[in-house]
Amino acid sequence: MMCEHVSCGSSEKVWLPYKYKGRDRGLKAHTYCVKCGIVKSISPDKTRDIGYFINLVSVIGRSFKVTKIQMRMIAMDLSNSCLADAYGLDRSMQELLFIQIIKKYINLSDNSLKEFFQ
Ligand SMILES: [Zn+2]
Repeated sequence: MMCEHVSCGSSEKVWLPYKYKGRDRGLKAHTYCVKCGIVKSISPDKTRDIGYFINLVSVIGRSFKVTKIQMRMIAMDLSNSCLADAYGLDRSMQELLFIQIIKKYINLSDNSLKEFFQ
């Protein structure tokens, strides 16, 4: 079951290291969910919604020989993954997770999949 995250108050924020584009940018105050403890991503890169990734599956499916059944299974797996829960993810984490799920069903390299992200 997915958590309906409840952010902590601004005085309860936690100071954690912050990385941007792979570089340390010191400590920053992070909001976290008081229910499950996930720290909210404060990356400026906007996360994608699940629809974007589902669309990408059909684009990938057309480019490679992917059966309809495989595509349905991928789409289901994506919907059940935490990819749809962008609270604690930034865009690069979403992309990594997407690649991991695709590779469970289709034998493609990371690089050939990365080309589908603009
Ligand atoms: Zn939560």
